[in-house]
Amino acid sequence: MPGENQAQVLPNNTLSEEIEAETGIKVSACYQCKKCTNGCPVTFAMDIYPDRVIRFIQLGQEDRVLNCNTIWICSACETCTTRCPNEVDIAGAMDYMKERAIKAKIRIPQPKTYAFHRAFLADIKRRGRVFEGGLVLSYMLRSGEFKRKLFKFDVGADIWLGWNMFKRGRMKLFPKGIKGKKEIKKLLK
Ligand code: SF4
Ligand code: SF4
Repeated sequence: MPGENQAQVLPNNTLSEEIEAETGIKVSACYQCKKCTNGCPVTFAMDIYPDRVIRFIQLGQEDRVLNCNTIWICSACETCTTRCPNEVDIAGAMDYMKERAIKAKIRIPQPKTYAFHRAFLADIKRRGRVFEGGLVLSYMLRSGEFKRKLFKFDVGADIWLGWNMFKRGRMKLFPKGIKGKKEIKKLLK
């Protein structure tokens, strides 16, 4: 019954106000046009669509967002953010909620995605940019994939892929930092 659902949801602005204050992302500007969801390439794997995630944030339904797999499925491609007519940074909000889930020690439905997330951030903190070779190795060590593949003698395909990327100039042999490393570190803090 519609009346029953309405009675269960008590809107609470605290979460959206916190996001807006901490990140500048104006989730309150969302008017549910669904352009974000319609452009998202990975909705097939999500349990809550991106427009709904924003709506739940607006309503203060923090538990639902922290426990959904959507924030971990999100690949941060920013298609949604680019499409939003109200300039809501949906991808940024997903990242913010990931960090909140980690702080709240919520069980992460996709430990490998989490391992990649940590490896990616660690690389950015270290150099201000990603070094693909180091990122892959760091991810494989954190996720346990390295051990698994080593025991199964299954690293050949990865080495071959790395070699092909290197040949095409898509992967460098040595890492390079950027000038504004300190600023990036501050931003991440
Ligand atoms: S595109 Fe923007 S305004 Fe539309 S539903 Fe998504 S977040 Fe809301
Ligand atoms: S950033 Fe995440 S939510 Fe947005 S379109 Fe890409 S995958 Fe979908």
